[in-house]
Amino acid sequence: GRSWHLVARPHGWPKREDFALREAPVAEPGAGRILVRNLHFSVDPYMRGRMNDVKSYVPPFKLDQPMDGGAVGEVIASADERFAVGDHVLHGLGWREYADVDAKHATKVDAALAPLSAYLGVLGMPGLTAYAGLFEVASFKEGDAVFVSGAAGAVGSQVGQMAKLRGASRVIGSAGSDEKVKHLVEDLGFDAAFNYKNGPVAEQLREAAPDGIDVYFDNVGGDHLEAAIGSLNVHGRATICGMIAQYNNTESTPGPRNMALIIGKRLRLQGVLVSDHAALQPQFVEDVSAWIRSGELKYSETFVEGIENGYDAFVGLLRGENTGKMVVSVTR
Ligand code: NDP
Repeated sequence: GRSWHLVARPHGWPKREDFALREAPVAEPGAGRILVRNLHFSVDPYMRGRMNDVKSYVPPFKLDQPMDGGAVGEVIASADERFAVGDHVLHGLGWREYADVDAKHATKVDAALAPLSAYLGVLGMPGLTAYAGLFEVASFKEGDAVFVSGAAGAVGSQVGQMAKLRGASRVIGSAGSDEKVKHLVEDLGFDAAFNYKNGPVAEQLREAAPDGIDVYFDNVGGDHLEAAIGSLNVHGRATICGMIAQYNNTESTPGPRNMALIIGKRLRLQGVLVSDHAALQPQFVEDVSAWIRSGELKYSETFVEGIENGYDAFVGLLRGENTGKMVVSVTR
């Protein structure tokens, strides 16, 4: 089976030469393990951080080893009583065709309840990030005006819709193309949206939220965060979820220049790590699957076909080629 390896640590934007697609034999699983034929694997922005050799909340990818990450697939051989051939599982050994998975680290998923790819997105890690980041970390309450950046992505698109579903007074999103902006307003029910490439974020945000915002969900950082600090109302809250605008920077970026506003407005800015919020999982699945069934919550997926296109999918994600969740489908 083929798998993607990191062979050099990217400096700035990743290059094709930093990666290699390699072939290795597939073995029968040992005791307590299952062999999974991957059907879809996830490419996520946090993986860019794992390509650097720095200490962080997830360890760096090892050079010349298969990369890992979220994946869903079908069990084709099992040496663990909890799993049978034909079961579908979610696990952490993506970026490869066949995964030899410790059964302890696999979760059965039901293809009848949702398309398998949904377990990587709306019903998976990005969905829980949106749910926990909005309802728990930002202490969202009915009547809040919410601004989310990266709004057409996997996390952002769910944040905006969840806020609307729970009674936000106004939901504003920013994204990197006019088409995405149209999608946010026309398909996902955002009250306003703007293309951050069309002009200064602060000006566009003030126009979209003339009465200010109460919650900012940050996926981007940089000028978006500065603009949000400027527009947040007294006692406003910001969930700091990601700073994708700087993941490929080679120099450290200047902070928002208006941090002093935090004082007078008594703002609360708090980071979120989805792994802290596993306890919310049952409630999250219950709420989100009900919203999907009723048609109130929509989700998009951008599929890149073929493991050989895994690198293109990852770089495409960083460039904004996705609407909703970016997924690699392992076709053979
Ligand atoms: P997305 O589906 O949102 O994909 C990334 C998007 O980022 C692209 O589609 C692109 O959209 C946008 N983007 C890229 N460069 C820039 C830029 N310079 N300025 C503004 N937008 C940019 O990814 P996810 O939903 O998976 O992740 C969203 C964010 O959440 C990321 O920052 C990620 O790191 C973070 N995250 C954090 C977690 C946590 O536990 N803290 C867990 C999961 C995700 P566009 O066309 O709009 O530019």
